[in-house]
Amino acid sequence: MKVMKFGGTSVGSPARIKSVAELITAPCSQRNLVVLSAMSGTTNTLVEISDYLHKGNREGAKETIGRLKSLYAGHIAALYESEKYKKEAEQYINGCFSLISNITKQLFTSVEEKIILAQGELISTHMMYYYLLEKGVKAVLLPALDFMRTDANGEPDSDAIKARLLPLIEAEADAELFITQGFICRNFHNEVDNLLRGGSDYTASLVGAAVQASEIQIWTDIDGMHNNDPRVVEGTSPVRHLNFDEAAELGYFGAKILHPTCILPAKYANIPVRLLNTMEPDAPGTTIDNNLDPGTIKAVAAKDNITAIKIKSSRMLLAHGFLRKVFEIFESYHTSIDMICTSEVGVSMSIDNTKHLSEIVTDLKKYGTVTVDTDMCIVCVVGDMDWENLGFESRAMDALKDIPVRMVSYGGSNYNISFLVKSSDKRRTLCALSRFLFADTGRS
Ligand code: ASP
Ligand code: MG
Repeated sequence: MKVMKFGGTSVGSPARIKSVAELITAPCSQRNLVVLSAMSGTTNTLVEISDYLHKGNREGAKETIGRLKSLYAGHIAALYESEKYKKEAEQYINGCFSLISNITKQLFTSVEEKIILAQGELISTHMMYYYLLEKGVKAVLLPALDFMRTDANGEPDSDAIKARLLPLIEAEADAELFITQGFICRNFHNEVDNLLRGGSDYTASLVGAAVQASEIQIWTDIDGMHNNDPRVVEGTSPVRHLNFDEAAELGYFGAKILHPTCILPAKYANIPVRLLNTMEPDAPGTTIDNNLDPGTIKAVAAKDNITAIKIKSSRMLLAHGFLRKVFEIFESYHTSIDMICTSEVGVSMSIDNTKHLSEIVTDLKKYGTVTVDTDMCIVCVVGDMDWENLGFESRAMDALKDIPVRMVSYGGSNYNISFLVKSSDKRRTLCALSRFLFADTGRS
């Protein structure tokens, strides 16, 4: 069994739903399980409705509900040919909107909010389900609220998920295809809950692990992963394979890779995750698994709007507890540190959230001289860079010989070397790294 997850934009219109239906019903030797997000924009609108209700603005909520409801009326009209399935879908969706409208009349707490947020995936999966039935496909809808569970700590409960899901699948001997909702679940108190924004990827990974899928496919409509940023560097090539750890390193650098937490269940269950593009369904995509391509550098990625903070103090020499004091300051302002480099008498850190920069700097001044550099950019090189492999650091450093480098970080993991440069040098840096690291593919 393969698990195939489609994101919001992949099911973002009736036309897109039809092309996903074609993809998931292509002839295939196994029964697959399809995980769907809400249609794009829907979760945001449901959040907006909840915000109105939190603020006690029922009128605002009602107006937004009305708009969403008429949007879906249009979708239904465009999606189905037969009156029978048009009616079925309409009935289901009207039920969801009545539920939401009834909630506007009650006391509004986070329990009701989660029920509202769940409607997006409930609706998209039912729309697909009825569409498949109309096409004569023996599809079965598996209600995620019947098997997706989180535990007392709010973490997915893999054992419970498996124990509930497998019998549901076994009971459907005639099914050709299974559909389920991403994102939504029930919590420890049996209330409707969710796996937080973007949680459909998490569902796919958890469900894939539960059914011991042969593969977990994550379909989006964005162009696949490249070994460098194609907007900046010419002649990039697609990345066909990444190790789970390499993928985790890239998680910080944009949306093309799944959040490392989401793919953890797949990693532990040793199930390959494949990133595929609905616009190019025949392209091989990027496979992420536990295999490593020895000595291979996979990708270069960059993140802008980084601020570097340096604190220098001769008191740091041979002192213990100095770093703790520094880190506590960042922690107290809920600011996470991304890159860090230390010398004997100083430490440099990078942050991307500057909301509390001035407070942090004020507090740090208690311990040393503080310098701030803004408009910086982290450039990271990802691949098999075990410290005993020779030569990759010098190739990367060679590439940067004409570029001022503010920080270098290596040794945090076996898969990453990062450089902090000025944003204005980002382009040069990415191009130079492509030239030196992917000489046969990435010349620009
Ligand atoms: N619909 C949810 C969201 O937009 C879950 C998902 O798409 O992964 O975050
Ligand atoms: Mg999404």
